[in-house]
Amino acid sequence: MWAAGAAVLLALCGGVAWNLTRFEARHEALTGPPADLMIQPGVSAAEVEAVKGGLRAADRYLRSALGRGADERVEVRIAREQGCRWPMSATGPATAWAESHFLCVNTMSPTWREVMAGDVTAAQSIIAHEHVHNLQGQVGCVRPSGEHEWLWLFEGMAVHLAYQAMVAEGRWKDGEAIDQIRRWGVDDPKLGPLQDYERTGTGLGDPAYALFHLATRSLVEQSEGPRSLLEFCRETARGRPWREAFAGAFGLSPEAFYARFEEERRRVAGRPGA
Ligand SMILES: [Zn+2]
Repeated sequence: MWAAGAAVLLALCGGVAWNLTRFEARHEALTGPPADLMIQPGVSAAEVEAVKGGLRAADRYLRSALGRGADERVEVRIAREQGCRWPMSATGPATAWAESHFLCVNTMSPTWREVMAGDVTAAQSIIAHEHVHNLQGQVGCVRPSGEHEWLWLFEGMAVHLAYQAMVAEGRWKDGEAIDQIRRWGVDDPKLGPLQDYERTGTGLGDPAYALFHLATRSLVEQSEGPRSLLEFCRETARGRPWREAFAGAFGLSPEAFYARFEEERRRVAGRPGA
């Protein structure tokens, strides 16, 4: 069940003093991936299991598909009422957010409550999405939130790899990704061409995430597989201009990809000529 508003997932880096925020919680260590769960009173056992399941699924998939996971320890806060300084999205406090060594899930958010009630795999995929941001942070390809140059791909990587992690677990089917992308609103008329989302766009919510998912899925399909995503991330982390890194990793320029992708998008959205 992926109702509207299910994808209010944010990654923030810089400027958020999360580690200074008091957070009363019990601790549980996880080894795969290396993580310290901080669980607040009132969080249910099912919620803890969903978080662990999402982390483990992401870790397994990232290691098998990309050849590496987030090897450095991550603090994972499962918050009930306070402690994470929620970034605000268009619809209220974010459901979850992450940076290189930190992940926080807001168990009081309407989206989290909804997925926990109806679709635990969706809850796991939210955690997996954020864990991809942990990996991006540890590889070094994350930009401060105001300095994105390839935002659609940054978020697209998280949505796509999280979806594929659930496929690898046998929870979702690869062939149903397009159904989810449609349900999330990829044909929303408010969405512009993909190239409009190099710097901003997450404020458009689910439709934007659907577009970023479709684009990243398409990019991976026409390149040499998901490892090209990691190669791109590493190259930008080394300081290579992103358009060059993109061409090197995916075998075509961003402009060539944009042109090809808009054709594919029209077919998926079922809006010929739109
Ligand atoms: Zn994200």
